[in-house]
Amino acid sequence: MSGGVVIVGAGQAGVQTAFSLRQAGYADAITLIHDEAVLPYQRPPLSKSFLKEQQDEEALAFRHRDVYDDHQISLLLEERVLQIDRPNKNIRLATGSHLAYDHLVLACGASNNRLSIPGAELPQVLDLRFLDEAITLRQALANAKRLIVIGGGFIGLEVAATANQLGLSVTVLEAADRLMARVVSPEISGYVLSRHSAEGIKVHLNAMATNIQENKEGQLTVSISSGEELSADFILVSVGVHPNTELAEEAGLETDDGILVDEFLTTSDPDISAVGDCARFPFAFDTSLIRLESVQNAVDQARCLAEKLTGNPTPFQAVPWFWSDQADVKLQIAGLTPTADQTHILGDLESGKFSVCCFNEGVFIGTESINSPADHMASRRILASNRTLSPTEAGKDGFTLKAFASGQ
Ligand SMILES: Cc1cc2nc3c(=O)[nH]c(=O)nc-3n(C[C@H](O)[C@H](O)[C@H](O)COP(=O)(O)OP(=O)(O)OC[C@H]3O[C@@H](n4cnc5c(N)ncnc54)[C@H](O)[C@@H]3O)c2cc1C
Repeated sequence: MSGGVVIVGAGQAGVQTAFSLRQAGYADAITLIHDEAVLPYQRPPLSKSFLKEQQDEEALAFRHRDVYDDHQISLLLEERVLQIDRPNKNIRLATGSHLAYDHLVLACGASNNRLSIPGAELPQVLDLRFLDEAITLRQALANAKRLIVIGGGFIGLEVAATANQLGLSVTVLEAADRLMARVVSPEISGYVLSRHSAEGIKVHLNAMATNIQENKEGQLTVSISSGEELSADFILVSVGVHPNTELAEEAGLETDDGILVDEFLTTSDPDISAVGDCARFPFAFDTSLIRLESVQNAVDQARCLAEKLTGNPTPFQAVPWFWSDQADVKLQIAGLTPTADQTHILGDLESGKFSVCCFNEGVFIGTESINSPADHMASRRILASNRTLSPTEAGKDGFTLKAFASGQ
């Protein structure tokens, strides 16, 4: 009997692959393997609305159970893939059984980086990627008064902003000299710092946590590189992720900070593809190999893969985009902007609505927008169209991204 498509991991990329395959007319078996007991769910609300709204866990599910059945997607819960037997095209499951595949999709995602400092193992030091961790964090937020967030990236700042709205005293420790340094321009880092500071969040930059100690009452003291000591009831660690490549490595697939795939998302084995946070792929807009951690990337790669597996292969060329909601700051990014060597601001910072147009060697590479969804959407259209936007053009009086995107 044909094994059809077997998908390892039922996060954003795995679930989308399964449904996109059916949408594209794939008629053989689809098996989706999920390593948790709950229905596959969305992660973005875990650092935002879920923490403050007593949101029903069911509301996070991508689809209800019967929708998987209706689409003849065999969803295996609480099951892990331990090994891939490439010569025999089957996988070994933790429960001991083997499953054959015609095509295997690795949608294994990423895992949070851990802190390796004394005290990091204390129970009041929390992590956030899975639903059960979000439930623990939500309980801590409801019962505690002081939170320290280690890591000033998207997720750390989203939780910090939410906790601050809930009335906790919040401190953020960031090892770099600015917030979200890996993903946004200094202009956005500075603006977001000013907004969080104005709301009462204490942000320490160039601050490395070196030690965590617990006193008899269960209160925590965090030592930082400056020599200061800060107190908290609990700590959230949010210091980035690493791709889940162990399964692929063990099977002899090529990996390097991600499972390496070509522009069709095929790994070094033509019968195995990889999508989402775990895949490192050729970026269509330059010559680099990249790995992205975003919903957009997971969804677009899954759709592209489904087309390939149903006989319509096209290279993966989607424009990357991201968002982060931090209290009243809605940050949206179109394109990949960390390599910007020139920026131009549209709008003014005082109004809380503006965009930073980013250029590299005179070429438009993307836009970082604050509370400006029209600029964000227009930037995505410009990037997708390959139209040339120069810094001079963007600096002209009356220039708007929307008008430029419409060809005016
Ligand atoms: C708290 C939080 C907030 C976020 N907010 C945003 C946001 O606002 N915007 C945005 O664009 N992105 C956001 N993201 C990132 C986004 O959720 C991820 O990029 C996206 O989930 C990636 O999907 P994925 O399917 O590749 O990986 P994952 O969602 O990580 O799913 C992979 C799944 O595979 C499982 N798995 C791994 N190995 C095995 C195995 N051997 N057998 C079985 N299962 C396995 C994993 O346990 C996991 O469940 C957020 C992430 C988090 C954690």
